Amino acid sequence: MKLLEARYPIQDWARGISPFEVLVSTILSQSTTVANERRGLEGLRQRFGRLSPEVLARAHETEITKAIWHSGLARQKGPRIKATAQTILEEWGGRLDRILAMPTSEARRVLMGLPGVGPKTADVVMAMAADRPVFPVDTHITRIARRWNLARRGGYEATRTALERWTPPEKRIRWHLTIIAHGRALCVARNPRCKACPVTRDCDWYRTLRAPSRHSQERKRRARGPQQQKVKNR
Ligand code: SF4
Repeated sequence: MKLLEARYPIQDWARGISPFEVLVSTILSQSTTVANERRGLEGLRQRFGRLSPEVLARAHETEITKAIWHSGLARQKGPRIKATAQTILEEWGGRLDRILAMPTSEARRVLMGLPGVGPKTADVVMAMAADRPVFPVDTHITRIARRWNLARRGGYEATRTALERWTPPEKRIRWHLTIIAHGRALCVARNPRCKACPVTRDCDWYRTLRAPSRHSQERKRRARGPQQQKVKNR
């Protein structure tokens, strides 16, 4: 991980935005790209100004849906954002920080009770808005955890638990961001760019499927024949 940490400088996308905006942003990020998620958040800011549970709870649902149109699935996300804002306003006095101040497992349970908030969204909010030592898992992380043989097949919880066991608590958020960056840059879903990857030696997937075996190297050497080998050796 040291090599990857050095390669991908930390990009804390939640810096400078409120915990409630982190929550809204994470709902917007569901099933879309980072660029579209940002466009959705920007659309909300342009339409409503500073985002808070009060503002979005009182906003008209269709206005929210229009404002986040570019984030994709706006007809589903718009009502969820409004309902989440309403719940925080009515049940928590508009104070998401009251939920985030709870012990981690309790905060997670309460967050997952909000409309449109599943385990991944809850973990992202706790990690990025409350600095809790959890390891949120997205598609990049799931793929890489399998390639590194850290987590076998299994659902979200199984992968998260395996990664939290693997990671020192103080490194969880950093490694979460680092692995996502690696998944976007090199360890992509189709045709990962292993030739440029600094961690081939530690990657189970590469060692099993990509690294030329000694047997195949030997076969190639034999196929070249002694003459060619001599020329090459000079
Ligand atoms: S060697 Fe390839 S599969 Fe393994 S981590 Fe690097 S890019 Fe991903």
